[in-house]
Amino acid sequence: MSDRRLWNSAVETLSEDALRALQLDRLRAQVAYNYDRSPFHRRTFEAAGAAPGDIRTFEDFAALPMMDKEGHRAAQAESLDRHGDPYALFAAAPRDEIVRINATSGTTGDPTLYTLTAHDVAVVNEMHARKYWRTGIRPGSVMVQALSLSMFTGGLPLSQGIQHLGAAVVPVGVEGGTRRVVDFTRLTRADALIATPSFGRHLIEECPALTGAPARDLGITRFYCAGEPGGGDPEVRRLLAEGFGAAVYDHTGGGHAFHGISCDHGAAMHFVSPDHCLLELVDPDSKAPLAVTDGAVGEMVWTFLDWRGGPFMRYAIGDIAEVLTSPCPCGLPGLRFRILGRADDMLIVKGVNVYPQAIGNVIAAFVPRVTGAFRVVLDKPGPLVEPPLRVRLERGDDTPDGDLPALEAEVLAALRTQLRISPALHWLPPRTLPREAMKTRLVEVGGGA
Ligand SMILES: [Zn+2]
Repeated sequence: MSDRRLWNSAVETLSEDALRALQLDRLRAQVAYNYDRSPFHRRTFEAAGAAPGDIRTFEDFAALPMMDKEGHRAAQAESLDRHGDPYALFAAAPRDEIVRINATSGTTGDPTLYTLTAHDVAVVNEMHARKYWRTGIRPGSVMVQALSLSMFTGGLPLSQGIQHLGAAVVPVGVEGGTRRVVDFTRLTRADALIATPSFGRHLIEECPALTGAPARDLGITRFYCAGEPGGGDPEVRRLLAEGFGAAVYDHTGGGHAFHGISCDHGAAMHFVSPDHCLLELVDPDSKAPLAVTDGAVGEMVWTFLDWRGGPFMRYAIGDIAEVLTSPCPCGLPGLRFRILGRADDMLIVKGVNVYPQAIGNVIAAFVPRVTGAFRVVLDKPGPLVEPPLRVRLERGDDTPDGDLPALEAEVLAALRTQLRISPALHWLPPRTLPREAMKTRLVEVGGGA
């Protein structure tokens, strides 16, 4: 068995220049394909008065209009209306080449469909293999997949990707509850578990009653967070790591071309699919392009490269990311990113854009002197905030009150340097703030401080 650190070293270690050249080649081929095959994309070019031949640089491309989920959904609806199927305007590939249809798990409106050809499925498999390989999964590993196995992108695409790597997947799902997951984890001698952070915590709580032993006796050495933002939360990560006695990784990317996974150095995820997804950042308000430089924060815009079925082109997904381009201490290649929330989470304090999760990331660096739990407290809903911004946070278990003034000075200095804000901090004892099973609200409106 090979001991190499990367699944596809040739591609994953391309120099920045070589990667940009590959992306540009693929981008030019992709825009021609999109123009020829998708009436939806052709309209985009026509609206901009451009033809694929005009796209010679990334800057030329960035001048094209963007699409978003609403536009995607509208194209699907129009396609159904005019052509009697949801594929005609956007799917691009011929119907008889589409082999998988996934959907987003959106809670409002009709689901938007991802249509993949066999080629696209192979790309997705490769990306799952790249992610898990980086964290030490090898043939012989047994991975329990305890995510919803429905048609959403955390289901079948993940199972197939694990098999592509050569590891074994146990697609237990969550439909049978914790008992079933625990039973199959034990029976199959699984060493890795993929679940939402909240399901993982639930399992830690239930395990003693179900098995008579703590979850750390299950034999799980790696826990993969998926499907919820909790994988980036230091307190959640610590609870999972201690509860299972496992390394904890956050990862993203289901049945499409944008994939990332964290490493043994913090919660930021390495972007593993830049050869198949061009990542742009834009200002969430003006939609003006932002340079992808170290520390840049903006709304992610995806363009799939070398992609046949339903290719995203300048798709603004509404997620805000912070990008880190400096080398990671773990030594693995690739730009890193942290998801800071949705575009509508943004606050504006004295003209400075602030994301609550970005405040959380700064505070997290002070764990264990703080617990990592915090809330932004607003008098009225954002985005405009009358300064000073108020932040409630908890001191750590072993932090005496006498240490708080010095700690506060350090936290404030970090917030000032990294986010250009000077909030008012209100200290609380450990575990004062409510913990929520799913996504914790980071902002309270109208709460006293
Ligand atoms: Zn790393």
